[in-house]
Amino acid sequence: MPSAIAQQLEQVRQRLKRACERVGRDPDSVGLIAVSKTFPAAAVREAWQQGQQTFGESRLQEAEPKIADSPEGLDWHFIGRVQRNKVRKILPLFGTIHGIDSAKLATHVDRIAGELGLRPDGYLQVNLGGEESKGGFSPEELEQGIEELTQFQHLRIRGLMCIPPFESEAAAARKWFIQLRELRDRIACRATGGLTDLSMGMSGDFEIAVEEGATWVRVGSAIFGRRD
Ligand SMILES: *Cc1c(COP(=O)(O)O)cnc(C)c1O
Repeated sequence: MPSAIAQQLEQVRQRLKRACERVGRDPDSVGLIAVSKTFPAAAVREAWQQGQQTFGESRLQEAEPKIADSPEGLDWHFIGRVQRNKVRKILPLFGTIHGIDSAKLATHVDRIAGELGLRPDGYLQVNLGGEESKGGFSPEELEQGIEELTQFQHLRIRGLMCIPPFESEAAAARKWFIQLRELRDRIACRATGGLTDLSMGMSGDFEIAVEEGATWVRVGSAIFGRRD
């Protein structure tokens, strides 16, 4: 009997594949980040046994022991809000940081990465809804600053990331995903590295995000179960 996690992971993979097929995308062009926050290392191991290599965590304190207890060589993505004073500890554990939400933070991450001899991948977080409770660049800030924001020596900005405003109907999230893609399309020509990637879509709406161009989806509860 496959475990619940194994079954749910397989279902998510099938749904991802079908979403790609609907819009004529290569399924290999979308990466699945299994968001293991609040779940133990044993859950990470179960997903890993099904071939999952990429995991997402949003709090350093929780992630540190979990990563230590997990198989080596996994690809860990930091998807939470990045606190300045934690960057030095985050970078050795996480190869990718999704929540670069200010120019100051980007500069800081780049400097610490240089000191540690690391080349992290980063995503610029966009606050599409202008929500005060969320961090991130406004679309206007990115349109103006994208050259400088992608010219770091150590931090490689790969693309844009969003956590759109909560919508009670998943279908309503589509407009936010379209906005992120169109913003990317407008500014990519001025970005070093081409801003090729879009990190968008969670358990409730990842298929829509894929239809609209996501290259990373961050899926937690659909794989691991409900969080308390
Ligand atoms: C928790 C979290 C996710 C995953 O959410 P689910 O709805 O469980 O898939 C994705 N992205 C971020 C930034 C998160 O904090």
